[in-house]
Amino acid sequence: MPINSILYPFRELLHLFFPERCPACGGVLPEGVRFLCPHCQWDMPLTGYSIRHDNPVARKFWGQIPVEEATSLLFFSSHSRYRTLIHGFKYYGQWRSALQLGEMLGRDLHQSGRYDTVDRVIPIPLHRRRLWYRGYNQSEYLAQGVARILAVPV
Ligand SMILES: [Zn+2]
Repeated sequence: MPINSILYPFRELLHLFFPERCPACGGVLPEGVRFLCPHCQWDMPLTGYSIRHDNPVARKFWGQIPVEEATSLLFFSSHSRYRTLIHGFKYYGQWRSALQLGEMLGRDLHQSGRYDTVDRVIPIPLHRRRLWYRGYNQSEYLAQGVARILAVPV
């Protein structure tokens, strides 16, 4: 018997007392949803930059360092519930959110068709003191999510 079918009743019981919550708005997730609630998914402030070589993120690098492409998945606002999502995996141990957001970015890059030649994903290293304090590098989880969708190694 698979372990999931043995654990399923206990998981359901656990979710009854500790329901899974949307990491952006904090609302209880509907049955079968594992990341963002439908409202937060629908309302994401997506940039759409990945389809354009000439986008505001890429322009920030021009003349500074050589880059082939640059993009951003979301617009950031300090008063947005997506700030809560990002702070969750940056400061509060919600590394699964980084993995899932990385997968969203990976799908965005894949659908753009502009990142087909990517052969690996390199996470930004974290200072060892911060790594010790936090216990993980959120950039590694973002990179794993992107790499999983692009089918390349980290
Ligand atoms: Zn939500």
